[in-house]
Amino acid sequence: MEPIPLVYASLGDKELAAVAEVFASGWPAGQGPKGKALEAQLAEKYEVADAVAVSNCGAALHLAMLALDVKPGDEVIVADYGFPAPAQAVRYMDATPVFADVRPDTYTIDPQAVADLVTPRTVGVIAVDTVGMPADYTELQAIADRHGLFLVEDAACAVGATYQGRQAGALAEVGCLSFHGRKGASSGEGGALLARDPKIGKDVRLRSSFGIGSIFDMGNVVGLPIPTFTEIGYNFKLSDIAAAILQVQLGRIDELLQRRNVIAAQYGELLADEELLSLPQVPEDRTHAWQTYMVTLDASVDRAAVAAELRGQGIGCGHGTFAAHVQPVFQTEQTCPVSADLFARQMAIPMHAELTPDQVERVVAALRSAVRTHSSSTRALGGAA
Ligand SMILES: *Cc1c(COP(=O)(O)O)cnc(C)c1O
Repeated sequence: MEPIPLVYASLGDKELAAVAEVFASGWPAGQGPKGKALEAQLAEKYEVADAVAVSNCGAALHLAMLALDVKPGDEVIVADYGFPAPAQAVRYMDATPVFADVRPDTYTIDPQAVADLVTPRTVGVIAVDTVGMPADYTELQAIADRHGLFLVEDAACAVGATYQGRQAGALAEVGCLSFHGRKGASSGEGGALLARDPKIGKDVRLRSSFGIGSIFDMGNVVGLPIPTFTEIGYNFKLSDIAAAILQVQLGRIDELLQRRNVIAAQYGELLADEELLSLPQVPEDRTHAWQTYMVTLDASVDRAAVAAELRGQGIGCGHGTFAAHVQPVFQTEQTCPVSADLFARQMAIPMHAELTPDQVERVVAALRSAVRTHSSSTRALGGAA
């Protein structure tokens, strides 16, 4: 049987043609014409003061921490469930990530947990739009305002999602996007930082280019002004090759997301009656980008055995995402029971824009059979025959 991959990046002829244009231009490096055009496209799409194209979302988060002036010893509250890039970004500053548990229904940061974790050392909050589901920004912003904290949105997985009619990525003063190959719009590797405050955008753009700004621009000015290095910066630029790919991908985001929505609806319909797993629920006031489709297995189900069975049939699957507080690198004694439970029981099944209805049916049949075979619950017996 033909394999059904867990993820597949939808990159095609239009993206190739855009890359060919960059080759012909002779400027493949960053902060050139394509990079600038992408930044303008992002700023317009997201209605923000500035958008900075960077090498990846990890770099965007790092630059956000620098621009927001996080200092050693500061505490930053981060969502516990999700790829643990926010906690790593806090650690780049020698600051302390404080892990907030998540809501059991949306898997996004629990505003009450955030409120309970604020101390005199807290300087900000990084919320995560978990695998494409926007967090509760109305409540989070109120908490941030009450305590004078910054709020950053890690929208790495959420390109195309919405919250209360607003676009994910622009739901906080700073938003960080990822264009990694596993996200909804991709240039292989890539990212962007969206800023409501133009000063933050300017600071981030400068620091992303070793602190001196666009080399492309320098070659085009009249005379010979010699730039000076006044700040330690990094090389976090996005290449113009990647920027050209992303311009095409952003133009296709509605089409790609529409496909993911159809697949999510099909999974929802076909799996609704399966008692040994539960499905993601999207609150009325938001839409999901479906970067990953995660089901939550009943506690009686042996997840590793189910995964082995699916993979044995060529069906891609994974554990979903991560509980950050249990990762040894963070050495915390905090507990986040909801996140820990999701980390133990969730499972990602194939989700990408190229899946066909037949493939979805095959995944559902294999998953249904596997959870019943590998459940210790008597509830499984009725359906196993
Ligand atoms: C994928 C991801 C990142 C990292 O994105 P990169 O572009 O690979 O650096 C950060 N945060 C979250 C929540 C992610 O899912």
